[in-house]
Amino acid sequence: MCTINTDNLGPLKVIQLHFPKTDFRAIVVVDNTALGPSIGGVRVSLDVTVEEVMRLARTMTMKNSIAGLPHGGGKAGIIADPKDPKKEQYFRILAKTIKDLTDYIPGPDMGSDEMAMAWVYDEIGRAVGLPEELGGIPLDKLGATGFGLAECAEVACPYAGIGLRGAQVSVQGFGSVGKAATRFLAEKGAIIVAVSDTKGSICNPDGLDIKELIETKEVTGSVINYKKGRVNKCAALFLMPCDILIPAATPDVINKDNVNEIKARVILQGANIPVTKEAEEIFHQKGILSVPDFIANAGGVIMAAVEYAGKTEKEAFEAISTRIKANTKKILEKSKKENVFPRQAAEEIAKERLLRAMRYRGNL
Ligand code: NAD
Repeated sequence: MCTINTDNLGPLKVIQLHFPKTDFRAIVVVDNTALGPSIGGVRVSLDVTVEEVMRLARTMTMKNSIAGLPHGGGKAGIIADPKDPKKEQYFRILAKTIKDLTDYIPGPDMGSDEMAMAWVYDEIGRAVGLPEELGGIPLDKLGATGFGLAECAEVACPYAGIGLRGAQVSVQGFGSVGKAATRFLAEKGAIIVAVSDTKGSICNPDGLDIKELIETKEVTGSVINYKKGRVNKCAALFLMPCDILIPAATPDVINKDNVNEIKARVILQGANIPVTKEAEEIFHQKGILSVPDFIANAGGVIMAAVEYAGKTEKEAFEAISTRIKANTKKILEKSKKENVFPRQAAEEIAKERLLRAMRYRGNL
């Protein structure tokens, strides 16, 4: 049983779907549409819950607001194994069911990709993160979010007294976001010392070769088969000494149980809601810089909004770089000046725009 907590921003709509004949179960949340129709990914996971989708939809509201996009926040979750052979059928059912829910525009998320968005688009003509053939800018293939994380790192590192060139980086999760983040950070001179996926983690303090690592993951299915590193359990990645730690997989992975073990100087939140509020406060007290998800990982949704507006890939990369760099600086300056933790600074800025927009809207 889930309690639906509401506040002055939302959620506007919480929809639970269950079609017993096909065993299709899903959740759709439209959190806030004051700035425009909501955009947010469709997560495919066996353990996704109403509560998680509501929290993720709120994150999208904040992310889209502070990124200056004409979109509100929403999210969906299909309760299934991402490798389920009925995945296409599930996406087509979801699409048909939300056909008239025009204030929600689906995008890719954990367990979904350009192909899944093509199925949705085929059914209802409304989705972002589409393949190029359908007029999309394939944000996962291009690594939009990973690119944004590297841009964010460039601005954040000096606030923690470190340089990005030569900085040691650990990344939890080696999917669309994690892979692209390692690629773009390595291009800026950072050294990737540890990565993980569901099977385990691999580390080498002298640095991992990103091209070889990506090939290993593609060919064998896991980073733990990469030869030039030490294999360990997933959770061991958080205990490794490094300068920058990027959680880029599941929610709440940094929490009161492991926060005090973390040795990094900068946390860049690649995943959505990967750090609990309690852990974020502890980071702030300890002088560890933690850049919130809706600032650091906004690259994907910025590219999606640029695609939706009919603009080009080049314009999308420019928008990601400009907006993420400016917002990182803005929130870290506010955090320093007012001695509040970065999430609080970011939320205040995002909410100001939302509340102003809500005043112009009749029934929201
Ligand atoms: P993905 O499905 O492509 O990759 C997820 C990766 O995480 C996989 O490699 C998986 O093996 C790994 N993983 C899962 N559980 C793990 C665990 N417990 N320990 C270690 N690794 C684990 O997903 P993605 O698109 O890369 O998204 C990752 C996160 O980033 C999600 O929270 C998503 O909401 C967020 N995000 C994604 C985008 C995007 O553009 N794709 C944008 C913003 C935020």
